[in-house]
Amino acid sequence: MTRILVIGGGAGGMELMGKLGKRLNRRSDVELTLVDISSHHIWKPLLHELASGSLDEGLNAVDYRAHAARNGYRFEQGEVIGLDRFARRVTLAPQTDARDKVLVPERTLEYDYLVLGVGAVTNDFDIPGVKDHCEFLDLTQQAMSLRQKLLRRFLEQARAERPEPFNITIVGAGATGTEMAAEMHHVAEILEGYGYAVGPEQLQVNLVEAGPHVMPALPKPCLREAVEEQLEELGVQLFTGTRVTRVDARGLHTQNDQMIPSDITIWAAGVKGPQVLSKLGLEVNDQNQLMVEANCRSLSDSRVFAFGDCAACPQPDGSYTPPRGQTARQMALMIADNLLRLLDDEEAPLKEYLYKDLGSFVNMARFHTVGNLFSFIRGGIAVQGCPARFVYASLYRRHMLALHGPIKGLALLALNGMQRWFRPQLKLW
Ligand SMILES: Cc1cc2nc3c(=O)[nH]c(=O)nc-3n(C[C@H](O)[C@H](O)[C@H](O)COP(=O)(O)OP(=O)(O)OC[C@H]3O[C@@H](n4cnc5c(N)ncnc54)[C@H](O)[C@@H]3O)c2cc1C
Repeated sequence: MTRILVIGGGAGGMELMGKLGKRLNRRSDVELTLVDISSHHIWKPLLHELASGSLDEGLNAVDYRAHAARNGYRFEQGEVIGLDRFARRVTLAPQTDARDKVLVPERTLEYDYLVLGVGAVTNDFDIPGVKDHCEFLDLTQQAMSLRQKLLRRFLEQARAERPEPFNITIVGAGATGTEMAAEMHHVAEILEGYGYAVGPEQLQVNLVEAGPHVMPALPKPCLREAVEEQLEELGVQLFTGTRVTRVDARGLHTQNDQMIPSDITIWAAGVKGPQVLSKLGLEVNDQNQLMVEANCRSLSDSRVFAFGDCAACPQPDGSYTPPRGQTARQMALMIADNLLRLLDDEEAPLKEYLYKDLGSFVNMARFHTVGNLFSFIRGGIAVQGCPARFVYASLYRRHMLALHGPIKGLALLALNGMQRWFRPQLKLW
């Protein structure tokens, strides 16, 4: 019996499990297991919509146990906290309820091949006050608690006798920060439509970026300018070239002694590997990502593979893979192929990962979508508006099809589209 243990059912992990599960077709000599902290999967690039209430988790969450049963693998809910490479065994933290009562004690799982896809966490760069005063969007649970906080604040604002504009500040103008800034205006607009006196004029959204531009991942200046124009049209105040040095309960302090007042601060300025990776006895880089070879094998252990945001995979030009959804998916699918080869022959040559930048998109709620398609071909094609929105939406559609198969996937997408007609535009609980 060969035991394949995959840690992390995220953007890449779920596609890996679907592919391996189907290809192994419940082979009796292979045991395939997925471990994740959560009981259900939500595609991470949608977490800002979950946080704003635009996305209903009931329709978009995939239950790991149900997916496992359909695709011929086992699921264990738990957080990986340790690794004994020599005994080939990982340790899972005890599972507790809301009152810290232990439901499942600490336990270990053994493997022959271990695949790590635990994603990334937001990098606070050790800036004082960030941990205590900022919100993060790394996990589904964080997005849901941010939703409660935002909606409570919006509703308090609507009830106030003499409401003063309140400030939401987002640090980091990559895809997460930019999309979140636009999403805040979308929420205010919908709430106003529901009769709450909380229009966009009572809301000040600030977007702070240390670099000179918003959306540095967009390769063409005209696209970055289009994003900036749209944000400015919405009334988002942009602070580019602004480095945050401290955060406190009143707001953010910058390198040029400016104070940006903020009632709710969302930190989305770069990512690093989760803390646990530095405790596994595997080589990590200064961003705490696992160092892997081009075939995604750990530099420290040939039985361990890693993909996605938690891995640094070298490319022929000397760079390393960027932490993006498409990277995680492409690497995970290649690891599935490599594992299938190893099951047949332990000495088989393995495929190597070559990052292919299919494009970058930013969707500013209902207002505008901007992107660059097929960036690997002569700088790619700039797209905006409806075509860009179509491509952006199709990335999630493709993920859903990969997870559910063509028939169920299409039915679910159609249902999702119909539900958008019937259900309220905003989830207020
Ligand atoms: C709001 C937002 C918008 C984004 N927009 C874009 C975009 O437009 N385009 C783009 O390319 N990328 C975008 N990204 C980044 C993209 O989501 C990630 O690059 C991608 O999800 C990485 O996939 P992954 O499989 O490596 O990790 P993830 O999808 O993060 O999955 C990691 C999984 O590991 C689990 N896990 C973590 N730690 C443990 C542990 N110790 N034990 C067990 N399980 C664990 C987590 O619960 C999670 O399910 C966005 C991210 C965010 C937050």
